[in-house]
Amino acid sequence: MIRPSLAVLVAGALAFAEAVGAADYDLLIRNGRLVDGTGAPWRRADVAVRGDTIVAVSARLEGSARHIVDARGRVLAPGFIDLHVHAREGIFQRPGAENYVRQGVTTLVEGPDGSSALPLGAFLVKLEALRPCVNVASLVGHGTVREAVLGRANRAPTVDELARMQQLVRQAMREGAFGLSTGLFYVPGSFAPTEEVIALARVAGELGGIHASHMRDEAARVLESVKETIAIGEEGHLPTHITHHKLIGRAAWGKSVDSLRLVQQARERGVDVTIDQYPYTASSTTLQAALLPAWALEGAAEARHRRLADPAERARVLEVVKEKIRNERGNGDPGNIAIAACGFDRTLEGRTLAEILEGRGLAPTVDNAAVLALEIVERGGASAVFHAISEEDVARILVSPFTMIASDGEIPAFGQGMPHPRSYGTFVRVLAVYVRDKGLLTLEEAVRKMTSMPAARLGLRDRGVVRPGMKADLAVLDPDTVRDRATFEKPHQYAEGVSLVVVNGEVVLDGERMTGARPGRVLLGPAFVGSRAR
Ligand SMILES: [Zn+2]
Repeated sequence: MIRPSLAVLVAGALAFAEAVGAADYDLLIRNGRLVDGTGAPWRRADVAVRGDTIVAVSARLEGSARHIVDARGRVLAPGFIDLHVHAREGIFQRPGAENYVRQGVTTLVEGPDGSSALPLGAFLVKLEALRPCVNVASLVGHGTVREAVLGRANRAPTVDELARMQQLVRQAMREGAFGLSTGLFYVPGSFAPTEEVIALARVAGELGGIHASHMRDEAARVLESVKETIAIGEEGHLPTHITHHKLIGRAAWGKSVDSLRLVQQARERGVDVTIDQYPYTASSTTLQAALLPAWALEGAAEARHRRLADPAERARVLEVVKEKIRNERGNGDPGNIAIAACGFDRTLEGRTLAEILEGRGLAPTVDNAAVLALEIVERGGASAVFHAISEEDVARILVSPFTMIASDGEIPAFGQGMPHPRSYGTFVRVLAVYVRDKGLLTLEEAVRKMTSMPAARLGLRDRGVVRPGMKADLAVLDPDTVRDRATFEKPHQYAEGVSLVVVNGEVVLDGERMTGARPGRVLLGPAFVGSRAR
């Protein structure tokens, strides 16, 4: 038997005493209504944290703690996990991620819509060194992988190119990706045949990853796209996920009945397919992606300019833009498309295409709006908000037992531009509008859709539920007052009603105050090889 020396024992004891400050716990949250993330009815419980871990959950916990919070009258829940965030740049500029923290979000999943950092490992190392406020996980983007091998070519890959793409996916999985994201709506993902995606999904699946898709079409051909997403899971042998499920344009409205039935039927025959959604009747992306045909965006910038300079080609493009304003993202009215961010002319931000046309003395017709949209794209482009989703579809998708909550947001520069309010409000809006006001979900079910469901989808075993042994990611909120304040007219407004947020055991939001602590970690996927920095 090896006996540790007295010096080692004393040093150990001192280190321990220092670590816990002679208190029993580092953090003790008392008297809250515990909504534990499983969907179980709330119960009165105290929750104790030591280090980064929940160590006790009980109706009554005695003992001392360095920090005691009385959560009487409030709800204590696991920190929310957002499966779809465009955080790649914003997290470095604003590592506090305040718009998310104030909603109770403690984990962001980056790399959505087929677009991720590549190589992923270098990005994750940089992120780890940054120490953001919240945890960050990442998917590897199919579009990014495709662009690295084929550029923006509109064709299927050769056998050799496909093998190189598979290798890039494999490498990203080994570097910590949680799976493959696709953006088959976006160039260059839109140029990929389904078989290519299946071949890559299979690699991600063999390494324990999932597939999450911004589908090829969310308008008139949405059901074909749902079938494609299911096929990718079925033939790729991995969990498959429809991200930000929505039905764009009047012609597609109501089809959520069928899309949800397709998902249900696939699940019944053993395909692991799930959904996420943000609770708004408008979407947001670039004007270019929303209104131009993919074929017009093939190739390098010069080729694209040459194409638009050709009168016949330009006329063909304009016809598609008109069609999309009429039947898809514009839903028939240029007043439904509002500029969110425009680098070359900030005065356009917050104005609809109709308002911009009227400002120029032009009638706000679909034809004029198409010409204007193309002009904006050519002058450098803009992102926009598109009001073309029905509330009935939003509600129907939300209450589906397969649907989780995800923002599709970003970490915006506070006060800049007119971004979609989802970045500031998604999670609390579900709690305020769909739980409290409309009563469509119980609080427990809504929280489950924000915590244990996304954790299970990612394969995170130590987050998403409040239980001893789990990481201490926690949110305390007032169920009577929690609400989103961000609107389409005034998006830069933080959520209200979340009074405490804890990430890995450290308090990052204390009452109204961001504490400045940056305890977030890079979460590493199931095939990660190597050692982590901390
Ligand atoms: Zn998307």
